[in-house]
Amino acid sequence: MYMKTLIAANWKMHGDLSWVQKPAEFRKLYPAGAGQVEVLLCPPAHMLLAMVRAARGLDIAIGAQNCHDKASGAYTGEISAAMVAETGADYVILGHSERREMFGETDAFIAAKTKAAQGAGLTPIVCVGERRAEREAGQAEEIVGAQIAGSLAGEIDGANLVVAYEPVWAIGTGLVPTLEDIAIMHDHIRGCLARRFDEATARKIRILYGGSVKPANAKDILALVDVNGALIGGASLEMDSLADIARQA
Ligand code: PEP
Repeated sequence: MYMKTLIAANWKMHGDLSWVQKPAEFRKLYPAGAGQVEVLLCPPAHMLLAMVRAARGLDIAIGAQNCHDKASGAYTGEISAAMVAETGADYVILGHSERREMFGETDAFIAAKTKAAQGAGLTPIVCVGERRAEREAGQAEEIVGAQIAGSLAGEIDGANLVVAYEPVWAIGTGLVPTLEDIAIMHDHIRGCLARRFDEATARKIRILYGGSVKPANAKDILALVDVNGALIGGASLEMDSLADIARQA
């Protein structure tokens, strides 16, 4: 089954409006059509609209890093899925471990956001991943399976969905699971998605790996059968390293 590899940049809370030159900078380093790669930049919310405009005509998608499940209301500091979509963004990252850990996001809340995102016409990238102690206790697959079941509960459209496997202990640490462990987990996630939706739908869902992806390790990770792209934090802030990673896909 052919799937375009998704190279997704999670800029977290980094950047300012001068970063609107980054899509053009990226395209100089990695011209459109250079490979079968879809590139996605997820900036902080304040620059979504400007980034959508800056990326126009460059074949680069723009996404948000979060959205709320409610359409509107007294939710100070939040942004709804429709508001994200109104900027022209196409994707939204949901359930990133930093949001699960620091902001107490539960699987049920993430499922509600996922439904809202799809309802607004966005493609959600739903993040799952075990903590270090859970891996050491041999519970990684069980934890990730439960996150998939919980975060994709209810009326979720499997045809408009991306899943990212991001072991918490690999994010921003320079630590990466072995290739074998990544392959085992992605195969496990594919199986969970087949049980949640059906085999045909599961085969079409892109499963990204995230956690200390760098130009030096991207080739081996992206070559794994069930790895359909990468979600990249630190190494996505500089366009030369992001382009280097895209070249390995
Ligand atoms: C992330 O934040 O999603 C991430 C994978 O970060 P890093 O690449 O820096 O580990």
